[in-house]
Amino acid sequence: MDGIILGIESTAHTFSFGCVGLDGALFPSISSLFKPEEGGIHPREAADHHSDSTSKLLSKLSHSNEFDWKSVAAVAFSQGPGLGPCLRVGASVARTLSATLNVPLIGVNHCVAHIEIGRNQTGCVDPVLLYVSGGNTQVIARADGRYRVLGETLDIGIGNMLDKFARHNGIPFPGGPEIEKLASKIDGIKHNLDSVALPYGIQGMDLAFSGILTSAIQRISEGITLEEVCWSLQEHSFAACMEVAERALAHTGKDELLLGGGVACNERIREMGTLMCEERGAKCHWPDKAYCIDNGTMIAELGRRMLDSGISTKISESAINPMLRTDNTVVLWD
Ligand code: AMP
Ligand code: MG
Repeated sequence: MDGIILGIESTAHTFSFGCVGLDGALFPSISSLFKPEEGGIHPREAADHHSDSTSKLLSKLSHSNEFDWKSVAAVAFSQGPGLGPCLRVGASVARTLSATLNVPLIGVNHCVAHIEIGRNQTGCVDPVLLYVSGGNTQVIARADGRYRVLGETLDIGIGNMLDKFARHNGIPFPGGPEIEKLASKIDGIKHNLDSVALPYGIQGMDLAFSGILTSAIQRISEGITLEEVCWSLQEHSFAACMEVAERALAHTGKDELLLGGGVACNERIREMGTLMCEERGAKCHWPDKAYCIDNGTMIAELGRRMLDSGISTKISESAINPMLRTDNTVVLWD
């Protein structure tokens, strides 16, 4: 590699290092996923996992064929939003590496990174992003030099909702992939949604998922099979996301939909996105699964664009910001 940006992701469950060439070539991330033995993700335990994995991940990175510390032109890290203790580990490692290598430090907005990796990999130019991950669910579009949040969840993230439902049914974190497998056993043509009714939480352009979670748990206790409830849960929650995304396309006049975040690994949400876009003459895109879930490469990719625009972060301005909003970040690049 001949000049690279190193990116460090640590907002929640994943600690990850990834690289992007200065020309925009993407290199796969080296990651470690924190999986709680029981219960949800405790921020302190996830942060301990990140600290404990640092030397193993850095040593793997050092030994990977394409990587050379001398080629690192800048170190980018997730400055927010995310879990404070987790963000702090990534930021500390980034500051240390930037100082040791004597290269610029770049604090990046994790949500914006999901957009930029998708734009890089799929070639879409000016999309509406449906960002569906564990902690976040937002519909985002660029206007007036920022990525604006047009709609978002008013309570929990869609991935969080899937993970909690899974946990209630003995499925370990992350629950989304297993829910997808169980749901795929149901024939959507033979089944009708009324047989496994669930609430559909939309208010204007905003979404809500805690009600559907409670109802889905209730349906199981009423004796409806896990496969049926998983299927209905996907159908309802993904359709709600599509409704907001479609309205965002209509309002903005854009004709590209980009899916991002871990839930965008799901084949059914991709299919729904494709169908919705086809019906209105738009096109649906998504990056490879490895770049949908949280990864260091996407942090590097946003760092590259920021560095290109002359942006870097002084140590005195490198504090983490757990509540950082998507539209806090000024977008100076194309
Ligand atoms: P992220 O926070 O972006 O890394 O995404 C993690 C979330 O994505 C977790 O809530 C997972 O359950 C969810 N997820 C991963 N794969 C799938 C899938 N195939 N279907 C639905 N959700 C998924
Ligand atoms: Mg994410």
